[in-house]
Amino acid sequence: MALTGAGISVESGIPPFRGKGGLWETIDPMEYAHINAFQRDPAKVWRVLIRNMKEVLDRADPNEAHRALAWMEKQNLLQAVITQNVDGLHQCAGSTDVIEFHGNFAWQRCIKCNARMATAAVDLCRLPPRCRCGGILRPECIFFGELIPPQCLRRAEQLSAHCDVMLVIGTSASVYPAASMPFIANQNGATVIEINPERTALSGKVSDFLIAGNAGPVMKALVKTIVERL
Ligand code: NAD
Ligand code: ZN
Repeated sequence: MALTGAGISVESGIPPFRGKGGLWETIDPMEYAHINAFQRDPAKVWRVLIRNMKEVLDRADPNEAHRALAWMEKQNLLQAVITQNVDGLHQCAGSTDVIEFHGNFAWQRCIKCNARMATAAVDLCRLPPRCRCGGILRPECIFFGELIPPQCLRRAEQLSAHCDVMLVIGTSASVYPAASMPFIANQNGATVIEINPERTALSGKVSDFLIAGNAGPVMKALVKTIVERL
């Protein structure tokens, strides 16, 4: 299994939320990323957060680390990816079993009639953008204050409890319940390997190894080592 966070997409040009260069250094998440904030003033959240995310995500391509995980799946070495990311880059790289804890930014949903529409097709001339029925569009992502889809959570817990190895790539492991997956894997006897340039709350406690480095080069080296031993 692999659990991925914003760090795996940093080398694709998408800044994380926390840490150095993170979005929360410039804007307050409670003011822009909480569902209450969206309900209070959707135009403001679209203007400051969502439009900006759309521009960044539109330009992003999968990197070496996303491609390595897709390759591992093809080799039957990896069962599934649990991701906290909303950028869809795992699927772009070729992974077919991706459990998206926080939804996917590629889609918008009308809050009135539930119609879906591709984010790429949304007209940003007037904010907030609206559906044909007049309802406001929102990304199919989880805002703070909203629940993880229960079927995603159940499946992730089951897979985490039964895996032999869990790769934890580019996540600070501070957002729950995603961060509890390595605990579940560890409690059930799996080896937990972190790939992160920084130590996290898991390091030295829940994870057996920390490979300190950026996801791209580390995953590339890992694939090379596996190929040499296949
Ligand atoms: P996070 O808590 O997962 O923290 C980012 C982690 O990535 C840190 O531990 C950092 O040390 C590590 N990191 C930085 N550069 C790295 C690299 N090159 N290789 C490997 N690791 C690296 O993520 P966050 O930014 O705090 O965001 C939390 C939530 O925000 C996510 O769960 C997600 O829902 C959302 N988010 C998604 C995206 C995306 O879709 N790409 C981007 C930002 C935030
Ligand atoms: Zn509608």
